[in-house]
Amino acid sequence: MVILGGGFGGLVAAQTLKRASVEITLLDKRNFHLFQPLLYQVATGSLSPAEIAAPLRGILRHQKNVEVLLGEAVDIDPAAKQVILGDGGVFPYDSLIIATGSQTSYYGKDQWRENAPSLKSVEEALAMRHKLLYAFERAERAESEEEARAWLNFVIVGAGATGLELAGALAEIAHHTLKHDFRRIQPHEARIILMEGGPRVLSNYPEDLSAKAVEQLKTLNVEVMLGAFVTGIEHDEIHYKHGEVSGSIPARTVFWAGGVTATPFARKVAERLQAETDRNGRFKVNPDLTVPGHPEIFVVGDLALSLDDKGRPLPGVAQVAIQGGRYAANVIKARLKGKTLPPFKYFDKGDMAVIGRAAAVANIFGLHVSGFLAWFIWVFIHLVYIVEFQSRILVMIDWGFLYLTFSRRARLITGELTPDRPLQEE
Ligand SMILES: Cc1cc2nc3c(=O)[nH]c(=O)nc-3n(C[C@H](O)[C@H](O)[C@H](O)COP(=O)(O)OP(=O)(O)OC[C@H]3O[C@@H](n4cnc5c(N)ncnc54)[C@H](O)[C@@H]3O)c2cc1C
Repeated sequence: MVILGGGFGGLVAAQTLKRASVEITLLDKRNFHLFQPLLYQVATGSLSPAEIAAPLRGILRHQKNVEVLLGEAVDIDPAAKQVILGDGGVFPYDSLIIATGSQTSYYGKDQWRENAPSLKSVEEALAMRHKLLYAFERAERAESEEEARAWLNFVIVGAGATGLELAGALAEIAHHTLKHDFRRIQPHEARIILMEGGPRVLSNYPEDLSAKAVEQLKTLNVEVMLGAFVTGIEHDEIHYKHGEVSGSIPARTVFWAGGVTATPFARKVAERLQAETDRNGRFKVNPDLTVPGHPEIFVVGDLALSLDDKGRPLPGVAQVAIQGGRYAANVIKARLKGKTLPPFKYFDKGDMAVIGRAAAVANIFGLHVSGFLAWFIWVFIHLVYIVEFQSRILVMIDWGFLYLTFSRRARLITGELTPDRPLQEE
């Protein structure tokens, strides 16, 4: 069988099949598994990329029935049951699990990407780190108050969990980490603006937690602008519409924390399979996560539109991908024994978003928690889910260091010195 993608869904699927008598080819366009929930910590200088990524070969080195191969799938031939790679490689399958995830959506305004990087890959996280540290450097050299201000205005678009994480971390950098590092500017005068089109932050959380999150953001001096729709992003200014009123903010640093959509590969597969998708390109899968009319093809994780008990779409989060990947693998194991399994049922353990040091909100099994306790639970859970023991220890040391000193050790500006470093797309 072939598994496409070694992210949360694909990796767990391969691991679940450890003792099954199947030959697995795990194909990924990267040679590593990336722990995306901590990407913002790479972007904000508290962790290094290697601490949140682990080579797939290394993770699966003892699992003899898996062959890990590097390659980007660009197409499939469902009649011949083959996966086709960009370099011409062809891989036959009896069963196929597609777990290739999603990509950032700029809601049709892809030209904004150039001035407003998003957070999906290691490259993008490093580009963000570059951009934000560079802004402080340029503010220090500014020739006018006005110029310095534009460098010290940071706008984050999108108040989902990633937007909040970025805003909180940026505020801590400005207020604590860089406090004594500059001579001409006062880093704490930086404005951190979190811009959201909807009426509240964390729109998929219970309302009381959204309100708690705003309180904690305000404590960190983050300005929250709700109901503001972005209408344009230039290299030194962002434009928005707030009701009937249009406005703009001079800002050299804009970060995009909007939604996700399907990749070109996923759209091609949908076309080949004549599969129904939603407007974000997610596959409307059967209750057993297979594509209608193709019992041998499973789609799991961000790319699948699976439903909960009440018929509501499951969110694009790691737990959905992990449980979906495990379920698809278990269906394959059951089929080998001539059995069937009941439909996929997602076990919702809850949601949590971190805002800063000892500041977070969490909805765990319906229990609403905020502040230090929520933050502590967040730290614990993220450490448990980091895939490699060695990284877990390193991240723990870095977090301990950050907690005690506010220092972010990975504060390096790498690559060429340009404010708008070209971004590599996923
Ligand atoms: C910044 C950020 C923060 C997040 N924070 C949280 C959080 O706090 N909690 C939470 O639960 N979720 C969070 N998520 C969401 C979570 O990371 C995703 O829901 C999850 O990664 C989806 O898993 P997946 O297996 O579907 O895809 P992914 O984990 O994205 O894995 C996809 C894999 O497929 C590979 N791939 C893609 N295209 C191809 C191709 N054509 N050929 C070969 N390989 C390919 C990729 O290299 C990748 O390894 C966050 C996501 C981001 C971006």
